[in-house]
Amino acid sequence: MQKFFLLAIILLICKISFATNSVNYNERLKEALPGFEMPSQWLQTHPAFRVIGNLYGVGGVDLASYLITSDDGHILINTGIEGSLKDIEKNIATLGFDIADVKILLSMQSHFDHTADLALIKELTGAKMYATKKDARVLEDGGLSDPHFGGLETFRPVTVDKIIEDGEIIKLGDIRLKVYYHPGHTEGSSSYGMKMAENGKTYNVLISNMGTINPGKKLLVDPTYPGVSEDFALTYRSQKQIGADIWVAAHKSQYGFYFKYKASQSYSPDTFFDPEGFLEAVEKLAAAYTRQLEQELAELDQKNKLRN
Ligand SMILES: [Zn+2]
Repeated sequence: MQKFFLLAIILLICKISFATNSVNYNERLKEALPGFEMPSQWLQTHPAFRVIGNLYGVGGVDLASYLITSDDGHILINTGIEGSLKDIEKNIATLGFDIADVKILLSMQSHFDHTADLALIKELTGAKMYATKKDARVLEDGGLSDPHFGGLETFRPVTVDKIIEDGEIIKLGDIRLKVYYHPGHTEGSSSYGMKMAENGKTYNVLISNMGTINPGKKLLVDPTYPGVSEDFALTYRSQKQIGADIWVAAHKSQYGFYFKYKASQSYSPDTFFDPEGFLEAVEKLAAAYTRQLEQELAELDQKNKLRN
């Protein structure tokens, strides 16, 4: 009798795991994005680290996830690709926190390399998913309606519980996190800012979604989505105006993580202090954007000339 009971339990577990894992999204990417090869760093884990105060990095070697802690629960921003959940969970545990205490999930951009395990973490923790309206649509359909990478689901769809507005302050315990709409990279990309006091200094901290333009994206001529060009311009303008004393981004490569941080060093609030580097990074992306606009216009000109 006991054996039967055990067998029934095993079958039930298999059935549950089969139901939740019936799609392998990392495999699916090959079909959804022909020619795409997963960068090897995207699969590699990285130990957790403290950015400043109660802001921690809990993601992988390049794909960044951030944990903001409070006595009343935590906020988790981004996952990595499918399978990143277990590394994020482990990283949170090594910091002395529990993933079960995550109350709010956020995303900076609704691309599969930052969202793939949001649905599983939501299921595991019961946390509420907050998103901008335009990214909510893409999060809920698993990337299907992404104007650039869409057409097929590229990650597990996640239900959004609350739409966040530009300038809104997300509150949890003593966390006060300001939402900034920084569209372009995705229609609903967003950054998150907060003030952090440490050693008698107050730092402007920005978890910044950088306005990178994915290859193949069109800004002016047959734009990837209507208004994409204006969106990028708004983002560069806004980021220059906000500025940041301390900044991090969705990819560690975007904010020079490995130039700033070595695993052996002890914590200092100034490790990621880099206000000039932030403006330079934004300027660099804005310049690439201007070059692409010029190129698209030149190509259009050429086409019109050939036509006449
Ligand atoms: Zn992206």
